[in-house]
Amino acid sequence: MEKKNIDWSNLGFGYVDTDKRFVSNYKNGAWDEGALVSDPNVVINECAGVLQYAQTCFEGMKAYTTEDGHIVTFRPDLNAQRMEESCKRLEMPVYPQDKFVEAVIKTVEANAAYVPPYGTGATLYIRPYMFGSSAVIGVKPAQEYQFRVFTTPVGPYFKGGVKPLTIRVSDIDRAAPNGTGHIKAGLNYAMSLYNIVDAHNQGFDENMYLDAATKTYVEETGGANFIFVTKDGKVVTPKSGTILPSITRRSLLTVAKDYLGLEVEERRIHKDELKDFAECGLCGTAAVISPVGKIVDHGTEICLPSGMTEMGPVTKKLYDTLTGIQMGRLEAPKGWIHVIQ
Ligand SMILES: *Cc1c(COP(=O)(O)O)cnc(C)c1O
Repeated sequence: MEKKNIDWSNLGFGYVDTDKRFVSNYKNGAWDEGALVSDPNVVINECAGVLQYAQTCFEGMKAYTTEDGHIVTFRPDLNAQRMEESCKRLEMPVYPQDKFVEAVIKTVEANAAYVPPYGTGATLYIRPYMFGSSAVIGVKPAQEYQFRVFTTPVGPYFKGGVKPLTIRVSDIDRAAPNGTGHIKAGLNYAMSLYNIVDAHNQGFDENMYLDAATKTYVEETGGANFIFVTKDGKVVTPKSGTILPSITRRSLLTVAKDYLGLEVEERRIHKDELKDFAECGLCGTAAVISPVGKIVDHGTEICLPSGMTEMGPVTKKLYDTLTGIQMGRLEAPKGWIHVIQ
């Protein structure tokens, strides 16, 4: 297969139209078979549930070209499972998990020419999502839904080299106790836009959200989970019912334990502990881990010992090991790598 003529190494993180996307419709209580289509546009009624009451959720994952030339994806079963949780919480019909994985595979296969070659640092981002497509004016779940998967090639995350982030402790909350913080709902992003624009205007890269009930415990940023490294080399990550269960974070904990022999802890993290950590990173599919160099808590600056020029040593090892697994340079735990072709 001939690859598209794209300057892979200089791609950013933006939408690029690819050849095919998968579409399946839910009507009269059942999903149709679904099909790959060419048209990137969605036509829905002006009163569709998604447009009026934000009934939509999504997933984010990637396809990689491995060192030996295969196209693979990483733990798609966990995305399928997580989307099921999101759908249930939003009163949307579940798209069966095995069909979800099948749809992802079909879409990647159909766009194989857009999967960046090994060594470019670029990857094919995959976006499965679902929305209420039929008209609702009274507040209630839609009767009809659309499940779609599209792909878009994205460039290397650390293009100009690694630059540790400066983040601020946020006054605005992300997720209420017993709310929707643990599901991947579009609404969680809509309400975070004001705060991220404000953070950028104030010179910060990201917001650190604390638990909304007590403003005491560290939760996550708008789109990534935290991992911390203690001065004695333990990997610690916040435990909370209101953070989104990141597949990257869960995978990194396994890597820390089973590949690097580190002690790992998932527990509540008080914000007073921040000053004692050696390293801090944000983890998610897009970057794997972005190092944090500085945390600003209302005028108090916490400078991580790992500094503002590179990843801390443990963060770097975690990053290298997980990306090594994804790119096929290191043996993966059973079931982590799904070979597409
Ligand atoms: C998607 C997402 C993450 C990262 O999850 P991954 O599965 O690692 O990509 C973290 N936090 C939020 C709020 C998210 O939406």
